[in-house]
Amino acid sequence: MDIRSFDKTQNLTWRSLVKSCNKLRQHQVPDKDGPGVFLFASLLFGTALLSLKYLELPETAVSPMVLTGFLVYSLFTLTVCYKHPYFGCISLDRAAQMLCLLTLGSFHAAWITGLSYFLVSWLRLFRGASLMHTINAVMINSGMMTLVLLLGGKWYQWQGGEIPMIHISQDSLLLVFSTLLVMQLLNQALMYVLVYLQGGNPNKTINFHGPLLEMGIGLVGMALALVYNRQDLSLFFLLLLVISAGMLVMSRYANIRLHLEALVRERTRTLRDLARQDSLTGISNRRHADEFIADQIDHARQTGAPLSIALLDIDHFKRINDKYLHATGDKVLQHLSRILKHNCRASDFVGRYGGEEFLICFPLQNLESARLASEKLRSLVEKQDWDRIAPGLKVTVSLGVAQWEPGMRTEDLVKAADQKLYEAKSAGRNRVCY
Ligand code: GH3
Ligand code: MG
Ligand code: MG
Repeated sequence: MDIRSFDKTQNLTWRSLVKSCNKLRQHQVPDKDGPGVFLFASLLFGTALLSLKYLELPETAVSPMVLTGFLVYSLFTLTVCYKHPYFGCISLDRAAQMLCLLTLGSFHAAWITGLSYFLVSWLRLFRGASLMHTINAVMINSGMMTLVLLLGGKWYQWQGGEIPMIHISQDSLLLVFSTLLVMQLLNQALMYVLVYLQGGNPNKTINFHGPLLEMGIGLVGMALALVYNRQDLSLFFLLLLVISAGMLVMSRYANIRLHLEALVRERTRTLRDLARQDSLTGISNRRHADEFIADQIDHARQTGAPLSIALLDIDHFKRINDKYLHATGDKVLQHLSRILKHNCRASDFVGRYGGEEFLICFPLQNLESARLASEKLRSLVEKQDWDRIAPGLKVTVSLGVAQWEPGMRTEDLVKAADQKLYEAKSAGRNRVCY
């Protein structure tokens, strides 16, 4: 996620939110299927087709218009999804699935659901997924959902469930609930295998919020089926309208919530970075230096690895300010920061610790190698062409180096380095003491 894209959304408009959410969605398309996933996809798709052909027969003849209407509703519910902050996209199509199942029976419900998944899964191509990944998704989604509907329907009919469902009682409600549970279990089990084959962590697919929401949505489908089957079509369409509007609102607000959370995370990161940065030189400030040393002390304590730091102070900086003006002093601080940054290892830490005082942390280095690194820096500063900043300008620095000993806290280590810095100053400046 690029922070610049958020800066434009300071005035949060609906359009900008939807745009960012689509961006988010594009980034979320996984694209790392191996041969195992392809085999799994083919197996699911093949099993679903064979089951439809040989195991299930249509319970009753249904008019093409009704089938088309149910397919359209199924497609609609599939495209509306609730984005859960932790569990990803939970589609709201269980409503259409239960409506089909309890109205037309498992054969038609499986066909309609399988076909709608088949059609919608191709949309991944437009979100930047590869053709192979898309084909796998098409086969997995349509195959899996066909089987889920067939198994759910079988369970429902085997338990003596009524199709079309017209009556509601405690028993029928329990049966619908157990049917939803069976469907959910098969769905979860297949998802578990899929994520495992994709190399992800399958345990992350196990959660309670997603299934609970899907089962709730399934009960909405049951309510729709009851009204439809009792031939109260005006009430049915009114309900359909209200529920669909509710689904759209829920989905939109979930998108906004995700977007705002991402925005807050980015802004918090930016603020944290700013709070750790020195405004004049752009390098880390004292707060960050102390945090870094504390982390390194923890590491040294756990691993027994050496850790050293150096405190660097510009010699007679006050004179530089007095002779060349404060602005020149600022340039010296900025240039010195660059010299230190460019001549330390990537794993070393350089920060401005005070006015003209810098702290360098040398992780995994003992006193001797920190001394050598400090000496190199001192000599580099002395040999710099400071004339470029102001004619006749000379800059030297003094450094105090200390190594961490067990039992030392951050302030103890800094104090030890400061003690050595004081010695370097007392001994005539432009030197390293340790
Ligand atoms: P010593 O060699 O003993 O370190 O002498 P010194 O003059 O460097 O040390 P002293 O502590 O007497 O003076 C430090 C000076 O650094 C005083 C202060 O005005 C200056 N200073 C602190 N922060 C800044 C800054 O951000 N910009 C500039 N230009 N000067 C600063
Ligand atoms: Mg000084
Ligand atoms: Mg000083």
